[in-house]
Amino acid sequence: MTGKKKKLAFYSASGCRACDHLLLDLQGEIFSLEQAGEIVFWPYRDGTAWEELPSDLDVALFAGALRTEEDLLAAQRLRDRAQWLVAFGACAAFGGIPGLASLTSAPAEVTAGDPLLPSLTAEVMALEQAVPVDYQIPGCPPTDNLVWAALQALIGAAELPPRLGYAASRLPEPLASAITAGVLPPPGSIFAGEKAVCATCSTFFLRRSFS
Ligand code: SF4
Repeated sequence: MTGKKKKLAFYSASGCRACDHLLLDLQGEIFSLEQAGEIVFWPYRDGTAWEELPSDLDVALFAGALRTEEDLLAAQRLRDRAQWLVAFGACAAFGGIPGLASLTSAPAEVTAGDPLLPSLTAEVMALEQAVPVDYQIPGCPPTDNLVWAALQALIGAAELPPRLGYAASRLPEPLASAITAGVLPPPGSIFAGEKAVCATCSTFFLRRSFS
């Protein structure tokens, strides 16, 4: 690889941590990823402290919904430091399962005054309800091929081992073409298929059931 390595941060707010585990599962490719990108901040894997977050971060992947004041502060810090901020997973993109907590008025007073419990925000928020977001990779967790496609685009590493065969068949054509060409898709792009998985499943049993 030539050129300066991109600085990457992965962070999880309020979620189940399976988004972090998806990234860990990609570790074979993550090794390749680290030829082009330097993972400088990943508290879940490395216990990285906020003091180690560079001021000139290139890409921040943010998983989990915003449920606590600490989540909100993390979103603001990463937005301030990163060129591209990505809502990673359904919780960050839409509120996800933690968002169900907004259906009750439970609350802030439950934790208020208890130093052992985190301070809750008034409502559970998706990332873009708190700070501007550049890209989304939805899914619970996102599929590994779509994540890999997004990472290749975001770090400008089209030459890394491709996993676009599956992803390209599900991504909108302009998005797949941009990634294949090593071009960053326009901000606001969503790294997801145009059809739900159920619409493309070829399971014989299901075909028989509905035929
Ligand atoms: Fe867990 Fe799904 Fe939320 Fe990711 S999007 S943190 S997998 S609940």
